[in-house]
Amino acid sequence: MATYMDMDTLKFLLYEVFEADKLTELERFADYDKASMDLMLDAVKTSSDKVFFPAFKEMDEQAAHYKDGKVIVHPVVGEMMKLAGENGWIGATFSYDDGGMQLPHIIFNAASHIIECANNSITGYMGLTGGAANLIVSFASQELKDKIVPHMIAGKWAGTMCLTEPQAGSSLSDITTSATRNEDGTFNIKGQKIFISGGDHEYCENFVHLVIARIEGAPPGTKGISLFVVPKMREDASGKLESNDVITAGDFQKMGQRGYCTTHLSFGEKEDCKAWLVGDENMGLRYMFKMMNSARIDVGLTAASTATAAYYASLQYAKERPQGRRILKGGAKNVSDQQTFIINHPDVRRMLMLQKSVVEGSLSLLLEATRYADLSEAGDESKREYYHDLLELLTPIAKTYPSEMGRISISNGLQILGGYGFCTDFPLEQYYRDIRIMALYEGTTGIQSMDLLGRKLMMKNGAAMQHLMKEVGFTIKEAMENEDLKPYAEQLSAKMQEAQEVIMHLLQFAMKGEHERFISDATMFMEYLSTMVIAWQWLKMANAAKMALLTGNQEYDTDFYQSKIHTMRFYFKYELPKTLGLKETLIHPETLTLVESDNSVFA
Ligand SMILES: Cc1cc2nc3c(=O)[nH]c(=O)nc-3n(C[C@H](O)[C@H](O)[C@H](O)COP(=O)(O)OP(=O)(O)OC[C@H]3O[C@@H](n4cnc5c(N)ncnc54)[C@H](O)[C@@H]3O)c2cc1C
Repeated sequence: MATYMDMDTLKFLLYEVFEADKLTELERFADYDKASMDLMLDAVKTSSDKVFFPAFKEMDEQAAHYKDGKVIVHPVVGEMMKLAGENGWIGATFSYDDGGMQLPHIIFNAASHIIECANNSITGYMGLTGGAANLIVSFASQELKDKIVPHMIAGKWAGTMCLTEPQAGSSLSDITTSATRNEDGTFNIKGQKIFISGGDHEYCENFVHLVIARIEGAPPGTKGISLFVVPKMREDASGKLESNDVITAGDFQKMGQRGYCTTHLSFGEKEDCKAWLVGDENMGLRYMFKMMNSARIDVGLTAASTATAAYYASLQYAKERPQGRRILKGGAKNVSDQQTFIINHPDVRRMLMLQKSVVEGSLSLLLEATRYADLSEAGDESKREYYHDLLELLTPIAKTYPSEMGRISISNGLQILGGYGFCTDFPLEQYYRDIRIMALYEGTTGIQSMDLLGRKLMMKNGAAMQHLMKEVGFTIKEAMENEDLKPYAEQLSAKMQEAQEVIMHLLQFAMKGEHERFISDATMFMEYLSTMVIAWQWLKMANAAKMALLTGNQEYDTDFYQSKIHTMRFYFKYELPKTLGLKETLIHPETLTLVESDNSVFA
C-alpha cells in the first residue's frame, strides 16, 4: 500500500515539540497517558489503512449524486459513521457528563489527520456531526440535548451546519430564512439553504440541521440572527419519526471532494417545518461561531492532510522515476551512464522540500492551535484567556495557510510527476482538485484575511498579537542558545520586528477612519504574517530536533532529526524571504485596488 502519511513525524510533533503527554497532568485529561494516546492513534491508522484509504479514489469516481429525491454516497460513509459511533470518535473531546471521552483536542486532531491523509472526503461526515452536537451541548436546553445528542454521538444521526443561502454566502447578514413562532414554543422555518455539506444520505437515520434564520420582527443584519435545531425527521406523539418538511432538492456536482455530498435543502415548502430555538433569540451567529471556529481549524487540517498525502505520493514517484543524468563537475553529462532517478535533480528536490516544509509546517501550526484549545479549556485558570486569545488570532492563519500553500505544494507535487501528474492513473490530480475547496469553505481566504487584520489584530487593543510575539520570543530564545540555530533565530527576530512596523503602518489608516484602505490588502498581509508564523513553527521543530540530537534522547534515527533541521533551513532560505516583497507591497503608497469612481480601470 502507498504511504500517505508519516506516523513518526506526527508523534515527533505531538510529544517532542508539543509535549501532548504532559496534558495528562491536567485534571480533565487525567485518565490518559502516552500509551493510551498511542494506542488510539495506532488503531485509527489501522482503520485508515484498511477502510478509508482503499475508498479514496473510488469516492471520486463514484461521486455523490442526487437520484429520485435521494442523495447517493459511497458505502464507506456508512462504515465511517458506524466506526465513529462504536469507537466514540464523534464526541471524543466532550465531557464525560455529555457522553464524551474527555480526549485532548490535540490527540483528536492528530487522529483526524491520519484519516484525512488517507481520505480527505470522509471525515467531514463525522466532523460536522461532532461540531453540531458540541454546539447543542454548549447552548441548547437540557431537553434538546437529551433527545438529540446521544443519537449523534452514536453515529446514527448526522449533523450539519446550514448558513449559506443563494444570495448570502460571505455576508450572512443578508440571510432571509424565516422563523415564525408557534404557541407551543417551537418555530416554523421557511427558506432555502445551499451548499450544505453532508446534508443527506442513506447511512444515517436522521439529520440534525443547525439552521440560522430570522425571527419575525428581528433587527436587521447579524444582530437579528437566531439559531435553530431543525431535524429532517421529527418525533410524532408516539415517539415515532415522521417527516419534518425538509426537502433535499439536489446535490452539487463539484471539481473535487466529489465523495463528500453538498446538498441543496429546502425548509418548510408545506409550511410544516418545525424548529427548536437554541439558546437566546438573536444570538445565533455568536453561537454559530463556536462551530465555525473549530470548523476552520478542521478545514486547515484537511488541507494540510491532503497536501501531506500528495507529498508522499510525489516523493515515492521521484524515488522510482529514472529520467536524465546528473550534471558532472565541469557541466558535462555522460549519456552512456544509466539514467538517474529524478529525486537526484536539484529542481525536483527543491519541489519536494517545498512540499515537506509546507505540509509539516502546517501540521505543526494546527497542532499548536489545538494545544491552545486544550489549554484554554482545561489549563491553569489564570492563563485560559491568554491561550484563548492566541487561538483566536491563529485560527484564520491555521485555516488559510494550509489551504493556500497546500494547493501550491500539491501543484509542485503534480509537477514532479511530469505528464503523469495530469493523468488519473496517479493521485496527484485528485489531490489538486480536492484541496481547491479549502480556500472557500468556512469563509474564503479574503474573509479570513479581513478577520485577521481587521478584527483579531485589533482585538483587546492588540493583546493577542502581543501574546504571539511572546510565544515566538520563547522559541527564538531557545534557538539562540545553540550556535547552529542562532542565525535562524536572529533572522526570525528581525522579521517579527518588521511585522510590527508593517502593522503600525497599516493601523494608521484605521485610526484615520480609512477602513477600506486599511483592509484592502488584507490577503497580502495574511500571506506576510503566516509565512512568518510557519517560520516560527519550523524553528520550534528545529529546537526539538536539536535537543534530541544533543542529548542523545532519540526516539528516531539521526537522519530523521537532521531532516527536520534541514527543512527548517530550506524554509528560511526559500520561503521566509518572500516576506520582503510582501512588505514592499503592504507599505506601498499607491492605492490601485480601491474603487475611485467606477470600474473604468478594467476597460
Ligand atoms: C463544496 C462546498 C461545501 C460547503 N459547505 C457548506 C456548509 O456545510 N454549510 C454552509 O452554510 N455553507 C457551506 N458552503 C458555503 C461556503 O461557505 C460559501 O461558498 C463561502 O462562504 C463563500 O460564499 P459564496 O459562495 O456566496 O461567495 P461570495 O460570498 O459571493 O464571495 C465571492 C467572492 O467575493 C469575495 N467577497 C465577498 N464578500 C467580500 C467582502 N466583503 N470583501 C472582500 N471580498 C469579498 C469572496 O472572498 C469571494 O472571493 C459550502 C460551499 C461549497 C462550495
